[in-house]
Amino acid sequence: MKIHEYQAKELLRKYNIAVPKGVVIGDVSQASTEAKNIGTPIVVVKAQIHAGGRGKGGGVKLAKTPDEARTHAENILGMKLVTPQTGPEGKLVKKVMLEEGMEIDKELYLSIIVDRETSRPIVIASAAGGMEIEEIAEKSPELIIKEPVDPVAGVLPYLARKICFALGLESGVIKNMVPLILNLYKCFQKEDLDMLEINPLIITKDSRVLALDAKFSIDDNSLYRHKDTAEFRDLDEEDPFEVEASNYNLNFIKLDGNIGCMVNGAGLAMATMDIIKHSGGEPANFLDVGGGADEEMIENALRILLSDTNVKGIFINIFGGILRCDILANGVVAASKKLHVKVPIVVRMEGTNMEEGHRILEESDLNFEVGHGMKDAAKKVVKAIK
Ligand code: ADP
Ligand code: MG
Repeated sequence: MKIHEYQAKELLRKYNIAVPKGVVIGDVSQASTEAKNIGTPIVVVKAQIHAGGRGKGGGVKLAKTPDEARTHAENILGMKLVTPQTGPEGKLVKKVMLEEGMEIDKELYLSIIVDRETSRPIVIASAAGGMEIEEIAEKSPELIIKEPVDPVAGVLPYLARKICFALGLESGVIKNMVPLILNLYKCFQKEDLDMLEINPLIITKDSRVLALDAKFSIDDNSLYRHKDTAEFRDLDEEDPFEVEASNYNLNFIKLDGNIGCMVNGAGLAMATMDIIKHSGGEPANFLDVGGGADEEMIENALRILLSDTNVKGIFINIFGGILRCDILANGVVAASKKLHVKVPIVVRMEGTNMEEGHRILEESDLNFEVGHGMKDAAKKVVKAIK
């Protein structure tokens, strides 16, 4: 689960990590009063969306007066902010943060992620932080420092110092940076994050270190033990189909194509998307009803598929194990009647009671095609939508 910058900064404060003074507003009428309250010569107005690159997209603006802060807030609130991370359709800005404008001496980069290769957390740092970090990682990877962390020991002071030396920091800064790195790791671990990114992590003229930006992703599986942070979820930032699917415990990811897929098991979902592409089609989604799906889940899944107007055909690819093929077939028939399905549906099923399942589909007066094997079914669905 992603959270907003202002929420991540709330968590950072809890772990004694310095962040600029700031306040979040959703209504422009509060802007100039709040800017005055912050009281620094410069106030920064920052769009709050779940995507980075806001600075480049015009979502971060400096203001020298409360009036100017109000003007920026007015322009940014309600805008569809397009950044390198939002896609061309952009994201609607519903909140802005007004923040103390800092005098920056240096912008560093620091993140902690779970690294697949080493199967452990890894600290990534760079002295070349700021808005160009992606380009730097690509063109000058030698400027990126990576330090794997022993998950049992965590980040020990020596490791934090090692990172500071590699960043070329001076001793006056190191003495502030070491506790900051230790606290960031504590936050990463205690809050069950799978990503914590501070870019920029700034050094001020008087050698203080602050997190000027914060991008967090929290492990969804841990949310049951973080009731407070679970409240940070912002449904406006999520795809509406995915939100609905998650209400029914369906694993659903929306994609760009036009063939809706209903499968059981993530491996089968991947294979289904591959075979659709291989047959010249484009999947509209990844929908996994799971191993123990029942009729009700099948109905919910079909309804979600059909509510996406991009879906021109449906490919149901099920391995009948716990969910027997005859139960699946009955579920599909019942749901299709109820939902008045108009798009072609191709069903491929394999496993327990397969013949019975085929019979139920064929005897229904609805328009199903039965695929014999994945390849045949994929070809049929691609043909059916053409
Ligand atoms: P994004 O990464 O989404 O572009 P950031 O929060 O990193 O957003 O802001 C972009 C840039 O704006 C920063 O690299 C920094 O130079 C500047 N900036 C952001 N917040 C402040 C602040 N409080 N004071 C001064 N400059 C800031
Ligand atoms: Mg940033």
